[in-house]
Amino acid sequence: MKVETIPCLPANCGAERTEPVAYLVVHYTAGDGDTARDNGRYFARCAVGASAHYFVDEGGVVASVPEKRVAWHCGAPSYRHRACRNGNSIGVELCSRRAAGRYTFAPETVKNALALLQGLLGRYGLGVEAVLRHYDVTGKICPAPFVDDQGAWQAFLEELEGRTMTQETFARQMDDYRAAQAQAAPGAWSAEARAWAEETGLLRGDSGGMRYKNPVTREELVEILYRMRGGMPHGDAE
Ligand SMILES: [Zn+2]
Repeated sequence: MKVETIPCLPANCGAERTEPVAYLVVHYTAGDGDTARDNGRYFARCAVGASAHYFVDEGGVVASVPEKRVAWHCGAPSYRHRACRNGNSIGVELCSRRAAGRYTFAPETVKNALALLQGLLGRYGLGVEAVLRHYDVTGKICPAPFVDDQGAWQAFLEELEGRTMTQETFARQMDDYRAAQAQAAPGAWSAEARAWAEETGLLRGDSGGMRYKNPVTREELVEILYRMRGGMPHGDAE
């Protein structure tokens, strides 16, 4: 994905961050036919006291405010969200189109936004729950296509979650996988070997049963070999 940098006017953004990035906030430009570059140039030229880190359109992404600085994209007199503020978030604006009196996002714009957010989540070690709409932060109807159509927003988050593999997600999925495998029945072909292993005490069950479909760790392997050699069994590991 193409990312072009068009630095915004210093007057449009805040100082360097003092808080870590904890949220990514999605907005729409409320434009019809505007491009990411148009927006980048506008904020580079006009002092309007507002800004965003990124603008996204069908063709790619424009970086406006450097990530290490605070952008003014979701400030408000009062908030719906308990913690998300300008100081701990990154603002991402999606260029919109208007059709039949409603704002929409082109599929390519959505695709580019997903790629950008996926990269940011990975870089900051955040899960998909860190992605909010401006609406979730302050109640403003922004981004309209994702506020008018709750289903579209859910689908967007699900797509993002599918692409996002944090360490936490991986560990949880691995635990689920191992738990499911532990319940799986072993094949008939290993019946004789299993009966022998259980009879001789080479392999002993635990609270999860014999768990024949779970992998063996190196630790468990040497314990099995040790038992086979005639050593005294050590605890419950097999
Ligand atoms: Zn907004």
